Amino acid sequence: MSGAVDPRARLMLQLRKAGITDPTLLSVMERIPRDLFVDAAFAARAWDDAPLPIAEAQTISQPFVVGAMTAALELDGRQKVLEIGTGSGYQTAILAQLARRVYTVERYRSLLRLAQGRFEALGITNVVATCSDGGAGWPQQAPFERIIMTCAAPERPDALLTQLAPGGVLVAPVGSGPVQELLRYRLRADGVFEEEHLMDVRFVPLLPGTSS
Ligand code: SAH
Repeated sequence: MSGAVDPRARLMLQLRKAGITDPTLLSVMERIPRDLFVDAAFAARAWDDAPLPIAEAQTISQPFVVGAMTAALELDGRQKVLEIGTGSGYQTAILAQLARRVYTVERYRSLLRLAQGRFEALGITNVVATCSDGGAGWPQQAPFERIIMTCAAPERPDALLTQLAPGGVLVAPVGSGPVQELLRYRLRADGVFEEEHLMDVRFVPLLPGTSS
């Protein structure tokens, strides 16, 4: 009796075809159980290459976008990473496998609690999470070797760029419309930021303040 393709294997194939080719990243994405990060109502679609709704009218990102953004960060296990927009914690859990430590900021306390429960269930111990307005970054913990925003900055995220270490990389959706540009900034040794357009993406906007 064959026919039913394992949804996890199918997703890995789709990611590879779409250009996510780093074997280390692919094996991390295969291992982190995305079904743990989606609401029970969407469990059957957990391994689809699609964004899905989570609580507080937010979304868990599309696996391809998570893969592309993670690849763009060029992680080798040694970096201290700041993530703005914990959401479900799915992207965080992947970063935690590929970085030394991940500092993650979420404005909804409710989402953060759920995400922290998932990190605990998975035995992830190198994530530090806080509820605050990530637009300001996490100045007490700066500098960071990598910064990733999983919500859209209306314009160049200057407050975050100042928290980047020399040689560091920041990946963020930038724009105030429904479609944003995914940009990669690199802080050169001479203090100049190089800016690269990676692709077009659709993220929920960075909102001010915090919420319970
Ligand atoms: N990477 C997450 C994506 C979540 S969606 C995942 O895959 O699940 C983006 C998240 O950014 C939302 O949870 C939203 O609440 C959060 N966010 C928006 N503005 C924010 C801000 N100013 N500070 C921190 N988090 C913010």
